[in-house]
Amino acid sequence: MELKIEKVNRTTPVVLPDNLVFGANFSDHMFVMDWEGGEWKNATIKKYEDFAMSPAAMSLHYGQAIFEGLKAYKQDNGNIAIFRPDKNLERMNNSAARLCMPTFDVNFVMDALTKLISIEKDWIPTQPGYSLYIRPFMCATEPALGVRPANKYKLFIILSPVGPYYPQGFKPVPIYCTRNYVRAVRKGVGDCKCAGNYAASLKAQAEAKAEGYAQVLWLDAIEQRFIEEVGTMNLFIRFKDEVATPRLTGSILPGVTRMSAIQVLKDWGYNMVERDITIDEVFEANEAGNLLEVFGTGTAAVISAVSKIKFDEKMVNFSDDEPGELSKKLYKEITDIQYARIEDRYGWIKNVD
Ligand SMILES: *Cc1c(COP(=O)(O)O)cnc(C)c1O
Repeated sequence: MELKIEKVNRTTPVVLPDNLVFGANFSDHMFVMDWEGGEWKNATIKKYEDFAMSPAAMSLHYGQAIFEGLKAYKQDNGNIAIFRPDKNLERMNNSAARLCMPTFDVNFVMDALTKLISIEKDWIPTQPGYSLYIRPFMCATEPALGVRPANKYKLFIILSPVGPYYPQGFKPVPIYCTRNYVRAVRKGVGDCKCAGNYAASLKAQAEAKAEGYAQVLWLDAIEQRFIEEVGTMNLFIRFKDEVATPRLTGSILPGVTRMSAIQVLKDWGYNMVERDITIDEVFEANEAGNLLEVFGTGTAAVISAVSKIKFDEKMVNFSDDEPGELSKKLYKEITDIQYARIEDRYGWIKNVD
């Protein structure tokens, strides 16, 4: 398939707002292609604009909608870099397959993605910690009622310049664990980035916010004993003798940052294990003085240190101001690779011309 490029004529240079609210600004161009008659067609980089869809479009009724999130960085040496984009596109295909949506050729979409970034390079902010957030997504557009896989889809890539996740600097956040809701069940779609998972999480998130917590710590849906993940981050617990993260059971999103953190920690010689972790174990370790720090991993924040965990009437308390030692070290290592301050020893960076 050929990629069509219809460039917008900009008459003024790109000027980014000073205060970049996450996800509120979009660049001039987007990529879009259609699935119709059993194949992808009309692959085009064109003006970012609204598109028309029938009120009967199946994604609106039956939820065939998936997305991805990754970032492009202006590195300290002036190069443009994307972090492990192959992993995001592979994961999007896994989400598509699970929701009976069409998969795509990763090389073709990667090529479209890099061309789009190249065209939009002036939209990549250059300040430290800033980046261009990349949002690929796919939705069913066929107008029809009745539960079955749709036969028409659109795949888009849109771009949004974003500031650092923590404008006030790298601050630990309080999290809230509840038995009142679950995010995902094993053998369901918890390991897919599908729209419905996030709608399902909003009620618990709102309750956490109302109590002064930043995110929800999810427990497994069956026994409500095992830690799963936090908001849109995977969770790591540093005990005295190991760093542990929940193993991927099918209900947890397999994060690219999680995968990268595991590799770095193993290479640094930490006893890094993927296993079942109960919430009780975390509180017991805390009482025994064996709980050193807790942090989340995800594209948006990269590493997010945890200051507090509340569960029933119990509370784990770390510093409100200072992230743990390992959180800081890992944040620095991964962002140093992203901004080319150190060698990309894993080959994680894809440069864009
Ligand atoms: C996206 C996401 C993550 C983090 O994945 P990354 O690839 O590291 O950004 C973790 N959990 C959930 C539920 C997510 O949606």
